[in-house]
Amino acid sequence: MKNNTKVIMIMVDGFGIPVAGWNDSVYAKYCSKEFMDLLVNYSIPLDAGLGVPGIPQSATGQTALFTGINAAEAMNKHHPGFPGPTLKKIIKEQNIFKALLKKNKSVIFANAYVKYSIEKVASSRFCSVTSCMVSNTINSVFNYKSLLLNKSIYHDITRETIAPEHNITTILPEEAAHHLLNVSKNVDFTLFEYFMTDVAGHSQKEDILKKILNTLSSFVVTIKADLPDNTLLMITSDHGNCENLSVPGHTVNPVPLICYTKTSSLFEKLFPFLGAARIYKQLKIKISSVYCPKKTVLSKAKSIIDVYNLIIKILD
Ligand SMILES: [Zn+2]
Repeated sequence: MKNNTKVIMIMVDGFGIPVAGWNDSVYAKYCSKEFMDLLVNYSIPLDAGLGVPGIPQSATGQTALFTGINAAEAMNKHHPGFPGPTLKKIIKEQNIFKALLKKNKSVIFANAYVKYSIEKVASSRFCSVTSCMVSNTINSVFNYKSLLLNKSIYHDITRETIAPEHNITTILPEEAAHHLLNVSKNVDFTLFEYFMTDVAGHSQKEDILKKILNTLSSFVVTIKADLPDNTLLMITSDHGNCENLSVPGHTVNPVPLICYTKTSSLFEKLFPFLGAARIYKQLKIKISSVYCPKKTVLSKAKSIIDVYNLIIKILD
């Protein structure tokens, strides 16, 4: 039987689980109740440490997420920012787009490239993991024109970081959410990357984080509300950061993996990975007790590396 399941994945950079749990966190403070419901009731913690000492970083974390390969182990350290030759080689050889295309699944990167073309980005030293993945697979991205036609999404969701320069109006997060839902129509795997959370975390400024979390929260909740029945919404991160503004860098906290679907059969498919409904029940208690090293439940802990195989399994 043909599997017509679809996945929308949002990679939220620097989005960790607060040590003291969701209550009284910056998320509880600045996100809507519906967004908190996703975090509290539909997420499991993922370890972002990759078994390598040090603070998790973007290049190794994102490579692990999108290739299923322990990139920090390959580098023998956590590598920040943009991937170098070793990580680029890993991404070129194996990545989620390549694996899905091989299975005749359609894939799309929903972010619009406004300032530079994918070719230009790919040949520069500022080539992110996703740009490297795209340039080595579909080699086609949405441009500024498509953004103006609402056929792609700008990385900041509302377009406000390019609005003055391009003399365009900003849009609401809810509008951007509908654009993403439209982009994902008839596509098996849609990826959107949001890194303003990481920027806000590094800024250590609460007013910046408040605005960013407001935007993200409205965007995600609208997608959730209008999510088609056959679609799984996945939200995860490469490492912690914005959950703790008291430090300027990343955190060693686990990251959430939100898996939300309106369809019970699709949800059941997730059980072997997510540890069945029991884990969900456990998650309703203080999240810190779920990943606390002294609790036996840690044996069930998953890593950001596991997301790759989960996506393939769901779409297979
Ligand atoms: Zn990052």
